[in-house]
Amino acid sequence: MREVAELNGDGIGPELRDAVHVLNEALGSPVSFRAVDWSLERREAGDAALVEGIEAARSLGGAMKYPTVTQTLRPNHVRVSKNYTGEIDMHVVRVATGGTYEDAGMRLGHYSAVSIRVMERTAVEHAAHFAFRLAEQHRHRVLSTSKYTIQRAADGLFEEVVAEVATEYRNTVHSKELFDALLAKVIMNPERYDVVVCPNEYGDFLSDAIYGLIGSIGLGASAAYAFTPSHQPKIGIFDPAGGTAPDIAGKGVANPSGAIEAYGMLLEYCGEFETGRAIVDAVHACIAAGEKTADLGGTLDTMGFTHAVAGRVADSR
Ligand code: ATP
Repeated sequence: MREVAELNGDGIGPELRDAVHVLNEALGSPVSFRAVDWSLERREAGDAALVEGIEAARSLGGAMKYPTVTQTLRPNHVRVSKNYTGEIDMHVVRVATGGTYEDAGMRLGHYSAVSIRVMERTAVEHAAHFAFRLAEQHRHRVLSTSKYTIQRAADGLFEEVVAEVATEYRNTVHSKELFDALLAKVIMNPERYDVVVCPNEYGDFLSDAIYGLIGSIGLGASAAYAFTPSHQPKIGIFDPAGGTAPDIAGKGVANPSGAIEAYGMLLEYCGEFETGRAIVDAVHACIAAGEKTADLGGTLDTMGFTHAVAGRVADSR
């Protein structure tokens, strides 16, 4: 059994964790969890929680992370957001470093401000390789998106690197699209898209836009990776996309789909490929069959949905 870190947060975090534990036990415990308390209270008390969590994720190589009130974990190199409703099965691969997000910017007096936008070749290479490998399991297509006609330096470098990496994946088609045009098209025909790779900010916007489009943020799963120099993931941190949802916390009604899918992705990452796949498929099958939580118009609570997923996984094995 492989041990992974478990970064426990706030709000609906404990309910989502309980759902994942129930499923993990129902599957014969393919992984065990080394729990780290990342509640707001502990994080505000000092750096110990952060240090302990990062150390656990680093040494064990994998982690489940649950929603925290404030984001304390720095993103790694690449973040993947997965969204599913039945027709929509879209993966946003985002360079999770650079862009404008690591620059505090500067006010230039009353009337102006500046910020620096960073694009790094190595980080884009990691994201691009990840996207092309992912596309090999899907429809063999990768779409890169940015504002390359306007942001010629930074986004120009991004597109240049993705195009270079594309030459190593002959069976996958690469195309590019301006980000603003893509947004309109995704909203009109989301089912046409699968693997999309983009710089930091655009990935942030796009993945959240899709969560809205598919009806509940509770459906989104996400993974953040750090890579070896040869572009192999060396640390993977998996989490549900949504936040702490204080409005429903403690009621046992949160949709655990995103957390369960994140757990399925974690199992795939740990080499339990078939079990991980079966979990992701079971989540989709439940929702397609109308076994849904309240956010999607269904009647199941968090545990009711979790047991429905566990039942389907058991039937499929
Ligand atoms: P935070 O500050 O932690 O991001 P938030 O409330 O601003 O919290 P979310 O937690 O993402 O942001 O919640 C946005 C909305 O989506 C809320 O109405 C919340 O109830 C709902 N929501 C989020 N996650 C889930 C979930 N897993 N199941 C059902 N509803 C959810």
